[in-house]
Amino acid sequence: RAKEVGRNNSQWYRPEMNARLRDRLRRQKQLGEALARDQFRVVYQPQVDARTRNILGVEALLRWDHPADGPISPMTFIPLAEETGLIVPIGEWVLRSACRQGVRWRRAGLPPVRISVNVSARQFLHDGWAQTVASALEDSGFDARHLELELTESLIMQDLDRCVQTMKRLQDMGVRFSIDDFGTGYSSLSALKHLPIARLKIDKSFIRELPQREDDRAIVMAVISMSRRLNLNVIAEGVETQAQVDFLCENGCDEIQGYYFSRPLTPAEIGAMLAVQPTVASAREDA
Ligand code: C2E
Ligand code: MG
Ligand code: MG
Ligand code: MG
Repeated sequence: RAKEVGRNNSQWYRPEMNARLRDRLRRQKQLGEALARDQFRVVYQPQVDARTRNILGVEALLRWDHPADGPISPMTFIPLAEETGLIVPIGEWVLRSACRQGVRWRRAGLPPVRISVNVSARQFLHDGWAQTVASALEDSGFDARHLELELTESLIMQDLDRCVQTMKRLQDMGVRFSIDDFGTGYSSLSALKHLPIARLKIDKSFIRELPQREDDRAIVMAVISMSRRLNLNVIAEGVETQAQVDFLCENGCDEIQGYYFSRPLTPAEIGAMLAVQPTVASAREDA
């Protein structure tokens, strides 16, 4: 079959390929208009202290409410935004929204929470990125020490030198970094060693079959103990069951994020949760 395709390039003439390509182009165009049409919103998922269960931070997650097709998953549209470069303005919008939201929670008298924002390679390696972050912080008045940027291993390995440079600049402003989806990428520990990283986020693929699966148990325990020795904070994502929570607590995981505690919520819902929380989050403020 492959041979046939190679010989006459027939894949370009298959009608369903045309349809798919047309579909993609249409989505791309819509994605380009989505910002101006106000179709994005940011939801926030709590990250809780494994021991006290207090909310220490929230992860900002982008949502696209398509007027005709309903909500579209970031798993679908983020890659499209990355390919087209639209991730640069869209990512800036997420960052600015998150910073403004953080200030709104503070002004409402709520305890400070760290806000984590996901950053794509295309964004982070873009020339103006550090300046964009500085200006988002300045315009909003959000405290840089409460901003965390989630980077992936592949982002870091894509251009290590440049990444280090940008990270150092941002670190000087007070911004912190975590490695998202840790364990799924190809970063080398020797590379990570030189980076100003505050914590690791254990990928949810290692959590899903806990505590039954022996290899996942071993991996998670190893990542937690490595983090502790390196003085890194460690958080597990995709935590859905009590048994997973128990396993993670017993093994010294610092924080937990997942449906077990909460799905991603609207700003108002987060505000309501923070309002009833004992004032412990501030204890971690300069941790
Ligand atoms: P991520 O950064 O690893 O975010 C965690 C994802 O896991 C989120 O999916 C979240 O809703 C989901 N999740 C949380 N708890 C659970 C759980 O207990 N079980 C399961 N099965 N899933 C859980 P979401 O919101 O669909 O986002 C998917 C990915 O899209 C994110 O993965 C991130 O890579 C990307 N993304 C989302 N927002 C942004 C953004 O603003 N900028 C960039 N560059 N990427 C984003
Ligand atoms: Mg993330
Ligand atoms: Mg992740
Ligand atoms: Mg991710």
